[in-house]
Amino acid sequence: MQRVNIKDLTRQELEHIITDLGEPGYRAQQIWDWLYRKYMFSFANMSNLPPGLRKRLADKTFISWPRLLKRQEAEDTIKYLLQLRDGQGIETVLMRYRSWHSLCLSTQVGCAMACKFCASTRGGKLRDLSTAEMLDQVLFVQRELNSKGDKPITRVVLMGMGEPLDNYENVIKFIYILHDPDGLNMGFRRITISTCGLVPGIMKLTQEGIPVNLAVSLHAPDNKLRDKIMPINKRYPLEKLLKACREYVEVIGRRITLEYTLIAGMNDSLKHAEELTRLLDNLSCHINIIPLNPIPGCDYRPSSPKTTTGFVNYLRARGMSVTQRREMGQSITAACGQLRLVRGKGGRIDNSEGQGNDYLG
Ligand code: SF4
Repeated sequence: MQRVNIKDLTRQELEHIITDLGEPGYRAQQIWDWLYRKYMFSFANMSNLPPGLRKRLADKTFISWPRLLKRQEAEDTIKYLLQLRDGQGIETVLMRYRSWHSLCLSTQVGCAMACKFCASTRGGKLRDLSTAEMLDQVLFVQRELNSKGDKPITRVVLMGMGEPLDNYENVIKFIYILHDPDGLNMGFRRITISTCGLVPGIMKLTQEGIPVNLAVSLHAPDNKLRDKIMPINKRYPLEKLLKACREYVEVIGRRITLEYTLIAGMNDSLKHAEELTRLLDNLSCHINIIPLNPIPGCDYRPSSPKTTTGFVNYLRARGMSVTQRREMGQSITAACGQLRLVRGKGGRIDNSEGQGNDYLG
């Protein structure tokens, strides 16, 4: 019988397993507590469970735990390259702000979306991450922060490697488990899903009705240019994308964030800024201007500080809500997918011994 990863289970699913094992339901809460409040990855150390239950749980389930392959630290950023059970490498980035920590997670190994400026998509998508593999990124970093008496993670951003809405079911399950007040207790409003513009996914999320933040990578104010930078635009052009965004805002009642990476000579002129204001007329949104992190093999370059300031000021002068994201971690190859590319040539990383946690006692 194949064992299931215990962190792929909702609390209700775990309760069913516990009841099937003839144990009282409160044991599920004890296990939940060990997993999501104490970051434990061995049944043997769950000291308030009877030894027989620990053994039977380990026969049916396992607890995953990633292996740290590389950790790079800059002033405001820590980047982790983590290895999964099948040897694949994924990236997770902790961003340290003055009063909070935000964690940027991967949702797939690689990505199928082929955005031109992105290292994650080199080599295409290898596979989706499971719910457990997303939770493990939070738990791994949270455990490290705890051990240093540091601030906890208070925001989670699904903006690392992969397109979250292309792995919809696992991502939604992850969000519900992350939100569970008896576990990690992350408010929906502190979770951001970033998409390159998968319209059916945005529509599903609208139906889901949870007040997470939606961030959409726009990067161009017209279809011709967006087709060039983001091939997904050929399938879901701006008219369809913005219609889905408007519906999201209307139903969920929250404004959305539009990400706009400035690329020198490509999308950064005042004419582009003017087109952008027209395109976004009457949409409740916030624009996040992002400096380009150049990647090897792509000749896109970041816009100059003068051009960037001019672009931002133009939008602000027309009453748009705009922030300019500061550059974080460029020195540590922080653009998503870069560390994995450097280390693992874009695919599986050699060392694939099983890691984690089976029953150790
Ligand atoms: S930017 Fe996001 S959606 Fe586009 S290729 Fe990179 S990871 Fe995929």
